[in-house]
Amino acid sequence: MKTHLVWLRNDLRLNDNPALYAACQQADARVIALYIATPGQWQQHDVSGRQLSFIRDSLQCLSEDLTALGIPLLFAACDDFTQSVAELSAVCHRYEVSQVFYNYQYELNEHRRDRRAEEKLAEEDIVIQGFHDGTLVPPGSVLTGKGTMYNVYTPFSKALVKMLSRELPECYPAPDKRAHPADIQADDIPSLSEQSRDYDRESFPPGHREALQRLRKFSQQGAAEYHRLRDFPEHAGTSVLSPYLATGQVSARQCLLRILHDHPEALSGGNAYSWLNEIFWREFYLHLLVAYPALCRHQPFTDWTAHVRWRKDDKQLQAWQQGKTGFPVVDAAMRQLNETGWMHNRLRMIVASFLVKDLLIDWREGERYFMSQLLDGSLAANNGGWQWAASTGTDAAPYFRIFNPQLQGERFDPAGNFIRRWIPELSSVPDKAIHDPVNWAKKQGKTLDYPAQIVDHKQARQTTLQAYEAARKHN
Ligand code: FAD
Repeated sequence: MKTHLVWLRNDLRLNDNPALYAACQQADARVIALYIATPGQWQQHDVSGRQLSFIRDSLQCLSEDLTALGIPLLFAACDDFTQSVAELSAVCHRYEVSQVFYNYQYELNEHRRDRRAEEKLAEEDIVIQGFHDGTLVPPGSVLTGKGTMYNVYTPFSKALVKMLSRELPECYPAPDKRAHPADIQADDIPSLSEQSRDYDRESFPPGHREALQRLRKFSQQGAAEYHRLRDFPEHAGTSVLSPYLATGQVSARQCLLRILHDHPEALSGGNAYSWLNEIFWREFYLHLLVAYPALCRHQPFTDWTAHVRWRKDDKQLQAWQQGKTGFPVVDAAMRQLNETGWMHNRLRMIVASFLVKDLLIDWREGERYFMSQLLDGSLAANNGGWQWAASTGTDAAPYFRIFNPQLQGERFDPAGNFIRRWIPELSSVPDKAIHDPVNWAKKQGKTLDYPAQIVDHKQARQTTLQAYEAARKHN
């Protein structure tokens, strides 16, 4: 009897998993699944310990569901991607695997690992087959009239909507119970790395079933109001699906089809369109990574911005990381990140702008720190977000448009309810003073256990404009 192996990576789900589905198509084959942990690789690329624990728990959930279908999930660990190819080959030999199925990953290192795996297994006469998975449509399929990748989001999204309006992607069903279950014991899933650390299981229960439930609930109860609430962090106005999307516990196709099921008009601009628009941003950044692999090496997309002379200031960098800048909205957001591994999108924009445009610290410091903390860390979205905020990317906010962190707070957390949730030291500060509490306290003759602003925004803005203008001369 033939043995098929599904190599699981960033696709930890039963439904709409093209590789798993294909591996199960031959009724008379045994199917086994394999996950290979690579802690050294992850450490080098700042993958957060929280995300590693979340992946471990999600693997355990998936393993139980796979076992019920007669598909044991095996676990292996090695240091890095090079060794993972050797490990894959060893498992194939141990279980006399004839064919390997896997879903593509589009980041440069992952892509290179997969090319090596294909070469090695081909040398060993093992068939290996890859499938497009992480995106709605294959990267490289949404192109300008000249056959090139769009460098600007809006025309990309218009072209994508046109494609999707002609033909929607399909979702693959979960496989059926195997007629010939593999007679192999599934492995218990151990901790994936010494770096692993606890995460908030109550807010983020692991597993693809939870992800689908969240999606369904959001689609039915949240999507129609998303456009109205999405920018206000005190409201639970967004889906909070990002950790599940980033680890493949739910697919972008499932998101699209679920929304269209509940909101059939969404693609032509109904209320739920603004949520789909975010799924399209995710898509854009993933397509960009494939078209411009230098992004995976953290190169700026806009060449002249490589000449910006960043400040090196470890004290200010630490104040930003720890949520002690004296700007309440920035600090509340950073404390939310540090405690939960998740941050609201509006706040990601504010804190990124603050690091880059107020402190003039290299956006890559922020990109790295986010990765090390985020439960939803994803190279494409994180790099895209940071380059947007730093005005170094495609579609970037123009370099001279600089958020005023105090005004951003006043606009998006007017009564300071979000701020007080994360900065209890400010609980006694009234609404009208919440965005400038130290000045208020001074006038009241009170002292607060909260720092004064670490920069003068007006001055910092001038310094930043000069730094960008000097760099632009290299254009
Ligand atoms: P929703 O608003 O419900 O959106 C639904 C989904 O769309 C998200 O789960 C996410 O997968 C995708 N999405 C939403 N906004 C964006 C966006 N701007 N770019 C790309 N995809 C988007 N998102 C990540 O998933 N991982 C990251 O590492 C990440 N880093 C970021 C860094 C910065 C500096 C910025 C400005 C944004 C970053 N984002 C990142 C995008 C966005 O902030 C998060 O996806 C969003 O806040 C997640 O919350 P949600 O699931 O409730 O999103």
